[in-house]
Amino acid sequence: MEHRRNQPQRHIVLTSHPGGSRPRHPPVKWGAATAVERGPVIASLSDVGHRNAIGAHAGSYAVYRALAVAAGQLSAYHVPDLTNTSPAQAIGPHPQWFDPDKIVSMDPFGHVVSEVFAEHLDRGMDVRPTIAVTKARIKMPELVDAMRAGRLKADGSVLLESGDARVTKVAIEPVWYLPGIAKRFGITEHELRRGLFEHTGGMFPELVTRHDLKVFLPPINGQTVYLLGDPAALTDPDRKVACRVHDECNGSDVFGSDICTCRPYLTHGIEECIRTAQDNGVGLVIYNRKEGRALGEVTKFLVYNARKRQPGGDRADAYFERTECVAGVQDMRFQELMPDVFHWLGVTRIDRMVSMSNMKSDAIRRAGVEIVEQIPIPDELIPDDAKVEMDAKKAAGYFTPVVPTAEELGVAKGRGLTD
Ligand SMILES: [Zn+2]
Repeated sequence: MEHRRNQPQRHIVLTSHPGGSRPRHPPVKWGAATAVERGPVIASLSDVGHRNAIGAHAGSYAVYRALAVAAGQLSAYHVPDLTNTSPAQAIGPHPQWFDPDKIVSMDPFGHVVSEVFAEHLDRGMDVRPTIAVTKARIKMPELVDAMRAGRLKADGSVLLESGDARVTKVAIEPVWYLPGIAKRFGITEHELRRGLFEHTGGMFPELVTRHDLKVFLPPINGQTVYLLGDPAALTDPDRKVACRVHDECNGSDVFGSDICTCRPYLTHGIEECIRTAQDNGVGLVIYNRKEGRALGEVTKFLVYNARKRQPGGDRADAYFERTECVAGVQDMRFQELMPDVFHWLGVTRIDRMVSMSNMKSDAIRRAGVEIVEQIPIPDELIPDDAKVEMDAKKAAGYFTPVVPTAEELGVAKGRGLTD
């Protein structure tokens, strides 16, 4: 009966009520002056008595982990061996880490738990990283094209003759400090907790029964940072920071689908990042897993069909309306939380922001990060079928030097479904 020992306990342990005994979990003091005073965030399930957070590790992948345990393929008591997993590049600490309002959607100590919470780990607490930092090379055909066209030149450091670019990449899982999230949206913590509980079908009862637990690891996707050039330039006022904040679009980013401008924007952003890095600065690509404006890919594809089948064809003046008809809203990306990553990286000024989205730049400025210059995508990099999206965005007030007229917006520029 070897496999029995790897299964969860036979009786269900409800974490929704703390029980009579004194809690064994360490407190979390968000924004405290030191890491030890802040305390570790413990959401692992190998010893539920130590938990001081709601939810489970790994974002949306927590559900696969639960399935692996249920299927008997993973021990419920497996504790990760963190030998040699420490960051390949030091990041922080920065003053922003110790301000409870600046970072509310990630754990600033998420990459250094083995170091700053070594004592807790030694005492048998299963503290897990929520951030991982590694190094790699990336190679994209558009960067090789840019080298051929003479827009980029190899320097042997950031960009190699082969077209490979050297990057530091950082994976970040969401860790929400509930009072801080509520404050960001101007609602009460109670309203936030109740909304999250009820509209996930009652997935996390502790949201409404355990107001003593202030940290929640939501089952959503996280983000990845690609850093090009010297990370020391991020906090050096004399060196420039270029940045592309990119929200995931699998169809375009990976498969090259031409209905939108996502991949051209991404590769143009990386190109600008490389140029700034080569100019003694640093480039940042923040890749957020928020598919289809965080409405999801099913909604997105439904909207594509609705756009192409509507009377008058696919045109800019009905672009946002069709999205709202299907999803009920135009956008659920909540850019209010996006700037946290800049505070984590210690960035206070972005010299070159490669984006036309005012939603993004406004959110960054509201968070107290200066933006010096906003760089639009050059027209020659926009695919033909994506002209509808570009016109709709410009007309909706996205950053652009030239705003299209009402007449132009009513012209169908997108392909039909079978073209
Ligand atoms: Zn796209």
